[in-house]
Amino acid sequence: MLCLAIPNRDRLDIAHVILDFNGTIATDGQLIPGVSTRIEALASQVTVHVITADTNATARDQLQGAPCTLKIIGADRQDQAKLEYAQSLGLESVLAIGNGSNDLLLLRQAALGICLIQREGAAIPSLQAADLVCVDINDALDLLLLPHRLTATLRN
Ligand SMILES: [Mg+2]
Repeated sequence: MLCLAIPNRDRLDIAHVILDFNGTIATDGQLIPGVSTRIEALASQVTVHVITADTNATARDQLQGAPCTLKIIGADRQDQAKLEYAQSLGLESVLAIGNGSNDLLLLRQAALGICLIQREGAAIPSLQAADLVCVDINDALDLLLLPHRLTATLRN
């Protein structure tokens, strides 16, 4: 469990981190350097899930051996499919990280949503639905591994 006590916000008890794949932990279907070791570190505190449309059909290969569950979704209503997956885990226990239009509902409804820009850019509505935006996935994952950084940004 990752417990986030941010001043003037409800305390968050995060049991699940949901990551999008392309544009979030991968570029052009290839896992971004630095992500694996951070997922391993996070996995001692939370369950890590990767949910993706798998545009480049590389997710299973790239995540082989990583301590995370992989959910590949179909072509239609991807925003809804991602949201329903998070709902099945309990939205109040989910922190989500994504960049695309199909992450919008997930970013909006998760207990905490982080939108990423990186190489593929971020869909503006998804960015606005998130609590926080990062430029780089390793920075975003470090917010969870070093939560005083997250507190500094979100406290009021
Ligand atoms: Mg994406």
